[in-house]
Amino acid sequence: AEWAAAVAAVRAVPADGRILLICHVNPDGDALGSMLGFAHGLLRLGLDRLQATFPGPPEVPEPFRGLPGLELLVPADRVDPAPDLVVCFDAASESRLGTLVDRLDTAGTSIVLDHHASNTRFGGINLVDPHAAATSVVVEQLLDRLGVPLDVRIAECLYVALATDTGSFRFDVTTPAVHQMAARLLATGLRPGDISRRIFDTRPFGAVRLYGDVLTRARYEPEAARGLGLAWTYATRDDLTRYDQRPYVLEPLIDSIRCTAEADVSCVVKQVGDDEWAVSMRSKGGVDVSRVAVALGGGGHRLAAGFTGRGGADDVVAAIRAELDGAVINP
Ligand code: 5GP
Ligand code: MN
Ligand code: MN
Repeated sequence: AEWAAAVAAVRAVPADGRILLICHVNPDGDALGSMLGFAHGLLRLGLDRLQATFPGPPEVPEPFRGLPGLELLVPADRVDPAPDLVVCFDAASESRLGTLVDRLDTAGTSIVLDHHASNTRFGGINLVDPHAAATSVVVEQLLDRLGVPLDVRIAECLYVALATDTGSFRFDVTTPAVHQMAARLLATGLRPGDISRRIFDTRPFGAVRLYGDVLTRARYEPEAARGLGLAWTYATRDDLTRYDQRPYVLEPLIDSIRCTAEADVSCVVKQVGDDEWAVSMRSKGGVDVSRVAVALGGGGHRLAAGFTGRGGADDVVAAIRAELDGAVINP
């Protein structure tokens, strides 16, 4: 019923109707890729009064600057105050939309496309599939139901999204259906090697040296959660300044920390304000990190979650430690 409602809502937009696409703050590959992939689909339907946006600083991280459709992006403070239709991507709750949350009320209709189990169904129409590996899986299905065939521009966006949220097809979410979708995307002629190198394997030399500093101060605590180990580190704004780097370069650090064999849980605490830290958490299965994140005002998935913490880096890690016992998954 929700699928039919979503299709009807898009079809109901007149050719000159205004559509606003919003993805979550600090957008990742799934947020941007899902949003821009859907944008290309709408353009193919002749709906071209289209704006795409996300809250916070309007800067697109360098790895995503090759995505087709960036010209559709509008800074959050300049978007249409009352569009006919608003569509949200990869946001589990309204808080992920920042200042743009009011558009849910001013828009004629709202559709939420997402895959977080913790999604609060804050849209008028909610297409939320917690079994989907990425929001782009939901986007592909909606485009299919709208009769939009995949083209290489749509495919490139959806591929970036799918590759990002499956850890390049390594995580358990990588089902046969994920590979079948990847096959449909690849069949449009996109070049996965170029895309992966741009997204995952290209950072400035200053970032490589910054990783050295941040990894040198990593800590391992063997008994953090009922005998389960915690590996963690932090990165300050000073670290970024020292090497003249942008915050996006810190994203891959969680993958280096979580490879700690002894640790079940890992986290990277990244300074985003004077006493404000963006936290990335990962679990190997012993702990439900989304429970820790939700308890601390954030959200996410069982094995990958995050939140914004206050105080110093030590205070933030102390808050995580205090929630770990309660988040241990009993087998
Ligand atoms: P990452 O560590 O890659 O930034 O985020 C991992 C997962 O945690 C993402 O799927 C995202 O949904 C969730 N997440 C990260 N930070 C936040 C946050 O501040 N608030 C909420 N609600 N979810 C977050
Ligand atoms: Mn995301
Ligand atoms: Mn996602």
